[in-house]
Parts: sequence; C-alpha cells; structure tokens
Amino acid sequence: MIASKWERRIQRAEELTAAHPFAAEVLQFYRHIAGFQKALYAYLESSRIEQAHGHESNHRAAGSLPQHLNLPLLLPRFSEFLATVEKVAPQPLAQPAARLKAQGKNQWETLFKSHWQSAPSFQPTSEHTEGLLAWMFLQPYAEYLADHSELAPRNQALAVCPFCSGKPVVGVLRPEGDGAKRSLICSMCSTEWNYGRIVCPACGEQTVEKLAIYTASQFPEVRVEACDTCHYYIKTVDLTKNGRAVPVVDELATIPLNLWAQEHQYIKLQPNLLGI
Ligand SMILES: [Zn+2]
Ligand SMILES: [Zn+2]
Repeated sequence: MIASKWERRIQRAEELTAAHPFAAEVLQFYRHIAGFQKALYAYLESSRIEQAHGHESNHRAAGSLPQHLNLPLLLPRFSEFLATVEKVAPQPLAQPAARLKAQGKNQWETLFKSHWQSAPSFQPTSEHTEGLLAWMFLQPYAEYLADHSELAPRNQALAVCPFCSGKPVVGVLRPEGDGAKRSLICSMCSTEWNYGRIVCPACGEQTVEKLAIYTASQFPEVRVEACDTCHYYIKTVDLTKNGRAVPVVDELATIPLNLWAQEHQYIKLQPNLLGI
C-alpha cells in the first residue's frame, strides 16, 4: 500500500504529461525525482530506522520532526541523487547539483542539518537551489518518519501539519455522504489531515464572501481557493470529480492556475517540491 503510493504518483505524472504538453518538462523532471524518492523510501524501509531510533521518536514533541537526522543512512545516498538531478534537471538546477556533488560529505552534512532544522517553515524556491535540492532529497525521509510514527496526532483543526508543522502544499476534496470534505496535505511529510472547508489555511478567515474559488474548464478537478483578506491561495484537487487524480501531482501539472493567481495578486501559500 505504502510502496504503491510512489507508483501512483509516477503513473499520474505520465498520464498528465500526455494530457498537458505545456507541463511536460516539469512532469518529466518530477518523474525522475519521484523515481529516486521511491527508491530512497524503499531503502529506508529495508533499513528499519524507526526501530533503531524508536526511543528518539517516542520522546519528541508532537508536531515536530525528530531533531537528529540519520546521517549515516542518508549521506551515502546523496551523491546518487545529485547525479540524477545533474542528468535530468533543467540547467538552473543541474549546475548547483554538480557543484554540490563535488563538495563532498562534510558540506552535505552541514546543508542537511541546517535544512532539517528549518524544514517546517522552508519555502522551496528556485532561487535557493541548495535548499531546494536538500528538500527534494529529505522529503521521502520525512514522509517515512510520518508513515511509521505512532505519535497521536495533535489538534487536527490546525492549518499546519499535525506531524511536523509543515505548511500544506495542496488541498483535497474527498467524497463524504452527499458532499465532500476537505483535507490538506503537508508539503514536507505528506501527512493528510482534515480541515474545515470554509476557512483560509493561511489566516483563518471564515467569511464566505472573502473566500473565493476559481476554476478553469481545462482542469475540472482542480480549483484555486484564494483569500481576499490575506491574499494567499492554495490549490485543491477535487477527487469527487476525478478519482484518478493524485493531489501532489495534479498540483504540479496545473501551472496555468499559478499564473492566473499571480496575475490576480494572490500568493501561493507553499511552493511545491520543485519550488514552483
Ligand atoms: Zn508534515
Ligand atoms: Zn486568508
């Protein structure tokens, strides 16, 4: 079940590449990254790190990532990740990957540690390339920890991830009764938690007139949920309209919606894995 979620993401990226040629470059790059992440996740599962670090995860506070990264496990895989990026990424990311690859483990360790500490509030952007590369690499590690955690989730009504306090990268509408309920997906660890339908996840606005929903006929299952109080927006993928959609992938593919939102002075609540 857990292993196949990576497969579903990769398959959905293939489907959307065919449907939306304008997003082909982004999706092809994503497929390579997701392929690497899938392998890293399987490697973490086979290493059973939760058992080794069980005492640590039991003692950390709910809503925060464990303080210490498992560096002996992670560092040896980074060179392979950078080689993949160097080969398949667009030039602005391929160059920094090559530079980082030449630097070696001491530098990577510093990068990982500083990134991990700031991970829940990290905003991946294309300007901060080293942070973005660390983010792509460490994301499946955070997801692995979340999937194998026995911590009771804290208050579910929060606008940040109950597992790691990361910001949501995309919303989801799932069928419930005759309607749909909304949940949010964490940009860092992919935890999904329920969240009110008529609340802005950036500022808490609940006035219906201030919460605008925009759709484009091109993407019937994806909508922009924008707030006219704080001017942040998040995209929400409506699984009641298309059960085949995979929220984190459909979010990546619907680039014209980002452009539309930008033109209307809305700011994205949290950039996605590729810094978009
Ligand atoms: Zn999280
Ligand atoms: Zn707001």
